[in-house]
Amino acid sequence: MPEQPSLRSELAAATRILASHGLIGMFGHVSVLTEDPQRYLVCPGAGARKDRCRPEDVLELDLDYEFEPGLPLELYMHSEVHRLKPHIKSLIHVHSPALVALAAMATVPADLLMLHASFWPSVMPVWDEPDLVRDRAAAQRLIGILGDEAIALLRWHGAVIVGRTLHEAVFRATLAEEHSGQLVTALSHGQPLAPVPESIDREDLYAKVLSPRTHDMHWGYASSFVTVPPGARG
Ligand SMILES: [Zn+2]
Repeated sequence: MPEQPSLRSELAAATRILASHGLIGMFGHVSVLTEDPQRYLVCPGAGARKDRCRPEDVLELDLDYEFEPGLPLELYMHSEVHRLKPHIKSLIHVHSPALVALAAMATVPADLLMLHASFWPSVMPVWDEPDLVRDRAAAQRLIGILGDEAIALLRWHGAVIVGRTLHEAVFRATLAEEHSGQLVTALSHGQPLAPVPESIDREDLYAKVLSPRTHDMHWGYASSFVTVPPGARG
């Protein structure tokens, strides 16, 4: 198995960061494409402690690798995004509370309440099959629904968030849950909202507010809280 020490330790750190934010735990997973576009790294499946993920716990797989126990059950989300959209380097799947709440709404709010969530789609892609994403065909349908957006919701289930880098995907995942919480709260308080005006181009806003430098700053900050204790078990 080819060595990817640096990327492997980054994927382990991403797993711990997402766990520290309550975004993944028993459920949820993260992947990153390697320099070889036929291979990707993914965190372990449901039985593993994500908050203690070590580099040696990370799995390196070929895009055609078939699911087996120990891997994330919804593994093919990762293989198929990396196969169909190689410019996307990372996919994160979460079952976090605010995103799950939005995913059950008949109409998902498109309001932008936070500059840092400017990757929020104007029309949210929604997977509405009442099942997990269990096989390659289902995963390819999901990636088709995602299109060119940064996030798609899975009804009664969760969300997938993607990034052109691992750092971007991790930052977006934390902000997506935060923004979802704001939207759920806004619907609860019922007060008139002042969202970012629709005339503002969200791509331009994103480029101004969330530059790659900001992704890296967030990464440095967030990863400093999640070092693995020596001898920790995965
Ligand atoms: Zn899931």
